[in-house]
Amino acid sequence: MRFLIHALALAVALPAAAQQQDFSQVEVKAEKVAEGLYMLTGRGGNIGLSVGKSGSFLVDDQYAPLSDKILAAVKAITPDPVRFVVNTHWHGDHTGGNENLGKAGAFLVAHENVRKRMSSEQFSATFQRTTPPSPEGALPVVTFAEGVTFHWNGEEIRVYHVPPAHTDGDAIVHFVKADVVHMGDLFFNGFNYPFVDVSSGGSVDGVIGAADRVIAAVNEKTRIIPGHGPLAAKTDLVTYRDTVKTLRDRIAKLKAEGKTRDAVIAAKPTADYDAKWGQGFIKPDVFTGLVYDSLP
Ligand SMILES: [Zn+2]
Repeated sequence: MRFLIHALALAVALPAAAQQQDFSQVEVKAEKVAEGLYMLTGRGGNIGLSVGKSGSFLVDDQYAPLSDKILAAVKAITPDPVRFVVNTHWHGDHTGGNENLGKAGAFLVAHENVRKRMSSEQFSATFQRTTPPSPEGALPVVTFAEGVTFHWNGEEIRVYHVPPAHTDGDAIVHFVKADVVHMGDLFFNGFNYPFVDVSSGGSVDGVIGAADRVIAAVNEKTRIIPGHGPLAAKTDLVTYRDTVKTLRDRIAKLKAEGKTRDAVIAAKPTADYDAKWGQGFIKPDVFTGLVYDSLP
């Protein structure tokens, strides 16, 4: 059981593991978030779906073996084909369906560093795993540096990049009219330490900064789709931001005192949070090490 949880946890973050997973029992479910706006869950990153007069618009697409189930879930809501897929970042549990969705006629859109990382072999120091380059058909065909706005389904969909955080190619997707924000893996909801993917250019200060930015832009009624975990409200994001900031400051203090990475991990600076926050995908020692690595 323990091994299984470990294996699943790795697979959540790492695209290369997709082939070894059994997706046959995975159910893709749609949850209505606002008028014309849905959150789809199956396995991998939460998907955002906008439907309406212009056509379907997806944020992220989980794993390739789930594409048929995802398209069936979309079809149960609207007959319109998927016209755009925006990736929140390059990780395979968010981009694994790209090639299939592209073949089905969608334009793939992402930050330019998503295309860069998907185009070349990637190595995760955290998980000691290599991810091969993605096939041409899985790569974003439209890339942006700062952001791009879609005028689609009567919505203003603002997609914007933030400084290095979860990775160096993160994008936040704000559906202005529906008052919904998709944060990708800038936010793990449900009391889980964030994954600061230092191997992909991530930084804990960016994670805090991205949360600050969204908190400043939303209100109590805004619905927030996290990369993983249940649909959230502003208060959940505030709790997350405050926790990450508190722990970041503790680790920064130890690092500033000249303690080595191993010594900081051994000091267990997250100990009083671990029972609640350290049971998920990112274990306390891994979190502490990644925060340490990403601090100046
Ligand atoms: Zn991710």
